This record gives sequence, structure tokens and C-alpha cells, in this order.
Amino acid sequence: MMQPASSLPSFDYATHCVHCGLCLPHCPTYAVNLDENDSPRGRIYLMQALANGRLETSARVQQHLDLCLDCRACETVCPSGVPYGSMIEHYRLSPAGRQKRHSGWRQRLIARLVQQVFPYRRRTRWLLSLVRMFDRLGLFRRLQRSKLLAAQQAQFYFADILRGEPRRLTPIEEVARPAISPPRRTVALFLGCVSESILGATNRATHRVLLRNQCSVHTPRNQGCCGAIHYHAGHAEQARSFARDNLRAFAPMLPFIDAIVTNVAGCGVMLKDYAMLLHDDPHWADLAQQFVAKVRDINEFLAALPLDPPQHSHPQRVTYHEACHLAHGQKIRSAPRQLLQSIPGLQLTEMVEADWCCGAAGTYNLTQPEMAGQLARRKLDHSAETGSQIMAVANAGCILHLRQQAALRRESLSIVHPVDLLDQAYQREQR
Ligand code: SF4
Ligand code: SF4
Repeated sequence: MMQPASSLPSFDYATHCVHCGLCLPHCPTYAVNLDENDSPRGRIYLMQALANGRLETSARVQQHLDLCLDCRACETVCPSGVPYGSMIEHYRLSPAGRQKRHSGWRQRLIARLVQQVFPYRRRTRWLLSLVRMFDRLGLFRRLQRSKLLAAQQAQFYFADILRGEPRRLTPIEEVARPAISPPRRTVALFLGCVSESILGATNRATHRVLLRNQCSVHTPRNQGCCGAIHYHAGHAEQARSFARDNLRAFAPMLPFIDAIVTNVAGCGVMLKDYAMLLHDDPHWADLAQQFVAKVRDINEFLAALPLDPPQHSHPQRVTYHEACHLAHGQKIRSAPRQLLQSIPGLQLTEMVEADWCCGAAGTYNLTQPEMAGQLARRKLDHSAETGSQIMAVANAGCILHLRQQAALRRESLSIVHPVDLLDQAYQREQR
């Protein structure tokens, strides 16, 4: 879970590490590089040495720490309870962690795009229109073939992701809401920024699945980005500003809703941390606590409801990738599997390293494309070993990153959210 710098555990927590090394086999970056400095134990040592002045910050040290995915797989397995995730976030919010992060032109461009475009739906849609236009003119194919862009090839397959998504969707606030009397639950749907701009169809599927389960659904109009993008980039104040905007948007309905539902694991972690993020703000701390008490990931919400299982059987083989923000950040592991197994005819086949990070990790796939690509290819290989035609993933960032990498390999694997599969199963009942 993310926390503001002021409330993060200090690097003194590093003393809890007994150097047992049990976390090493679970660390994706260590598995790839086999370098102790790219392991949790090595990074804890580096952060502690920087904090107590035994080590000067340098580009090399920073690269080892920046290469960490903040996936928290190490935290899940650590027998000493070392709060690794909070330590790396503390480091990244510190002056040492922020310096030189965006040094090259490409890094600066990505940082600007990530912070000034993606959190705003209208700007993202405008960018996507440009991408589609470039794609129609064949410019991406030419750029991919050019030597200049060969190293960043993966990013230009962005156009491939968009090809499968509808160009225009009815604004979700205008989608008809049949009266449900009495509803099993009354919920507010959190739409997200990138998830609504690019994966808006999954938000509509979530909406239909909630309605099919007799929930009354509200979508507050002025909601926006959860703030995770800025928080991960070390801009805690902007993240707090997004949090306040969302609290304003949801506050009027808090007294009569049972839950605030999100289908993006990364947003879920951030939303659940609003109380921590605003704990020292006297105007917002109480409201933030009330808000956090109602935030639920769609998987945990539907499993607890419980779900009304679809009836129509349809044979399909599916494997499941555990998004870090769901498995390690929110400790939600059985609920998505339970939902998938409730679909008649669906055969869930577990892949090796299902709970390993795929390399998306927020904006990591943009800032560390090489490692992100290696981890995605490893994930796709394990998925292929299961013989599945579909990979279910409960996080927008993972879906986009894995689709991009699958397109690069010309793989026809379908990568979708579990709620998309549930929605399809319900739609089959009506045929
Ligand atoms: S498992 Fe925990 S105690 Fe052991 S090396 Fe890793 S962080 Fe340290
Ligand atoms: S958070 Fe993930 S990448 Fe970072 S040290 Fe832990 S296991 Fe490795």
C-alpha cells in the first residue's frame, strides 16, 4: 500500500531484515539479472546505506533502485515482515530518489505524457485520435521499421491495442439504469482515467455485471484520476489534489452507497490509501476515512455479494495472471479465481509464476521498457504453456502492457478482465 512520505516507515525498518534471502527467488528483477543489487535484500542494503550516509547516490545506485517494480512480491513472502514497499516508496519520494530520474529527452517526454496527459480523459482521447490517424496513414509501420525507433518498438504497438477497442462509447453517466427494487446493494462505480479512456468497454461490462446482480449503480460525474500516476512519479502533492477532487465527487452519495467499486487493481490500492495520504489534512482526513471504508475491488465485491452465477455453458480455457496491486497490494487472490470458476464451461488452468509482475507496474513499462518487455515475454511464455486462448487480468495497466507485447509477437491470445468474461457469459444467457 502506498503511503505519504511523512507516515512512511523510515529506513530503520531495514534492520528487521535478517538477510535470509527467502525473498530472492520471488523477485522478478533478480530472476532476470541475477544481481544481488537488483534483489530485495540488495536494495534494502542500498537504501539503508544511502540513508545513513555510508553510500553516495550515483546513477548506478539509482538504476538498481529504479529497476525495482514495487510489485511487493518480496513483502508477501518475507518472514520478518519487512515493509519493503513502503521503504522503496519513501526512497522514491525523497530528494535522492527524485533526482535525475527524468534526465534524457525520452524520459522527460514520457514523464510529461504520463503526468500531463494520461490522468485527463479528454487529453488522452485527443492523443488516441492522433494515434489512430497515424495508424491509418501507416506511419507506425514505417517508424517501427526505422532504425531510429527500433529500440522503442514496443511503444509503437500502442496502435495495435486500440484496434480491438471501440472508437466511441456512450458516456457511462448516460447509460440507462433500470430501476432495481429493492437493490441487493447500492454502489458507486469508479471509472479511472486511462481505464475509461482506453478500456471503457470493461467499465461498461462492469456496469452490466453489477446490474445483472441486482445492484443499483451510480457514476459520479466529476470523478477523475485516482492519483497513483503522480504518486508513483514522486509527486505526492498532485496525488493529494486528485484525492481531494474524488472525495468531493463521491461525498454526496457516501451516506447511501454500500461500496465504491473499481475494476483496476492499481486504482484500488491508491483509493484505499486516501486516508493515509490525507491523514494530516484536518479538512479531509475524516471524509477520506469514510471513503476508504467503502472502496472495494470488483472481484472482492462480487465474490462477497455473492455473485449470481451465469447459467449458459461455453467451453473456454483460461489462465489467470495475478496483478501485483491485487495479489500483493490488496491481498485479493482467491476472489477472481472464484468468479472465473463460476462461469459454466470455463476451464481455469494455472500458469507458472502467476503472481509474478508482468512488467507493467504503473508506468514502469514506459520508464524501464527493456526489463518490462522481458517480464512480459516470460509471462506470455508461461501462459502459452497452459494452452489457454484467454488470459484473465484484473488490472488495466497489465492488460495494455501484455496486449502490446503479445501484438509484438503476433500472438492471438485474448487478454481481458475477469469481469469481461462474466459479462460475455451473462450475454450468452440472452441469446
Ligand atoms: S525475506 Fe525479508 S528478512 Fe529475508 S532477506 Fe528478504 S527482506 Fe530480508
Ligand atoms: S518489490 Fe518486486 S521488484 Fe522490487 S525488490 Fe521486491 S520483489 Fe523485487
